Amino acid sequence: MNEPSWMTAGYPHIWLPYAQMKTVSAPPQVVRTRGSRIELADGRSLIDGVASWWTACHGYNHPHIADAIRIQLEQMPHVMLGGLVHEQALTLAHRLCKLLGAGMERVFFTESGSVSVEVAVKMAMQYWFNQGEVQRKQVLAFRHGYHGDTFGTMALCDPEVGMHAAFRSVLPGHTALPLPIDEDETAALRAWLQAHGSQLAAMIVEPLVQGAGGMRMHDPAVLRTLRQLADQHGILLIFDEIFTGFGRTGSMFAFEQADVQPDIITLSKALTGGTLPLAATVAKRHIFEAFWSDDPSHALMHGPTFMGNALACAAANASLDLFEHEPRLRQAQEISNALRESLAPCSELPVVRDVRVLGAIGAVELSRSVDLAALRRQFIDAGTWIRPFGNVVYLTPSLTINAQDLAYLASTIHDVLATLDARDC
Ligand SMILES: *Cc1c(COP(=O)(O)O)cnc(C)c1O
Repeated sequence: MNEPSWMTAGYPHIWLPYAQMKTVSAPPQVVRTRGSRIELADGRSLIDGVASWWTACHGYNHPHIADAIRIQLEQMPHVMLGGLVHEQALTLAHRLCKLLGAGMERVFFTESGSVSVEVAVKMAMQYWFNQGEVQRKQVLAFRHGYHGDTFGTMALCDPEVGMHAAFRSVLPGHTALPLPIDEDETAALRAWLQAHGSQLAAMIVEPLVQGAGGMRMHDPAVLRTLRQLADQHGILLIFDEIFTGFGRTGSMFAFEQADVQPDIITLSKALTGGTLPLAATVAKRHIFEAFWSDDPSHALMHGPTFMGNALACAAANASLDLFEHEPRLRQAQEISNALRESLAPCSELPVVRDVRVLGAIGAVELSRSVDLAALRRQFIDAGTWIRPFGNVVYLTPSLTINAQDLAYLASTIHDVLATLDARDC
C-alpha cells in the first residue's frame, strides 16, 4: 500500500492513545471528513459509527459550525479569560444555563472532559471547606464508571475493570460502589452512607449510561435513588454528562429523563459538535454562593490557560444553534428505533450476551473477550469505522446519519460477529 510521506516520516514520532505501540497496527490515514464519512489517503471511505469518540453529533464539517469558526478566527481566535471576558464565552455560558434549567447558574470553562471533572470535584470539596466542613473530602463513585484519565479522575474510575489499576496505590482513596440498581445494591449503598456519609463531599455518576465502562445502561429510577440519598446525607450530586449530554440519550441531557437535578454537571464531548476541545462545569446557585465571600481564600483557584477559548465557544454556540434549528432530538429517536430493530438479530448469535439500545447508542455485549485488533480490522475492511472496546461493540453515530448508512453499520456488526463462535478463549 502506498503510504503518504507524512505517514512514513511522522508515524515513528507519534504516541497514540490507549495503544501498545509495539503491537498496534498502523492506523488508517485520514485525509478528509464529511457528514458520516471518513476518507482515507488510499481513496477508501469509512462509514463512521463512533462520531469520533461521541463528539460529532451533527456529522463532520457542518457548514454552520465551520462558518462560525471562520468568522471568529478573523475577529479573535483567543484571549485569556483571566481578567478579561468576551462575547462568545459569556453568550455560551448564558445559553448553557438556560438549556440546563434546573437552577444551573454558573459555568466554568475548561478544555477537556477530565479537567471539567477535576473542577467539579474541586468545587464540591471547597464548597464544604469554605463552610468549615473540612472532613467532607471523599467522593463516592460507582463501579463501571469512567470520569477521565488525569490523576484526580482516575481515582473516580472503576478500580477493578478500569484502565488505571496500576496507579491505584498513588491515587486519592475514593470509593466505588455498585450503582443502586437492585434492592441489595441499594441496601448496601444505604448502609455504606450511614457509616461514611458524613465524610463525603459528593457522589459522581454518569446518568443513564456508563459509557467508557461498557455502555451499561440503567433506569432513571437509579438517579432518583441517588438524589434522595444525597439529600438525606447532605451530599452533593455530580452528574458527569460528558458522554450523555447534547441529545445522545434522546433528550438534550440525560438527567431530564429522570426528572432529578444534579448540583454540578460536567459537559464536553459533543459541546462543540465535534470540532474543537472545550468542556464546562456548571454549578447550581447554592454551590456558587459558598464561594461568594470577602475572604480571598474562598475563591475557586483554577484557571486553564485556554479556558473559554473564543474559537471553541463560537463553535459551541453554533452547535447549539443547530440543536435549535434542526430536529436533532427527533433524529436521535429515529436512530434509537432503527438500532432496536437492526441490532436485534445480533442477540441470536452464539457469541453475543446482550444487545441494548438507549437513545442514539446501540451496544452489543459479547459473552467472551475477543481479539479486538482482528475485530477492528474486519470492520475497516467492511468500510466502517467501528471501534469496540473490552467485550462491547457499539454504535454512537452522528445524529444526522442517514438510514441507509445506519443500516449498513448494524448489518456489518451482525455479519462480523457471526464469524466468531462462542468458544471460551
Ligand atoms: C470522555 C469522558 C471523560 C473524559 O473526557 P476527556 O475529554 O477525554 O478528558 C469523562 N467522563 C466521561 C463520562 C466521558 O465519557
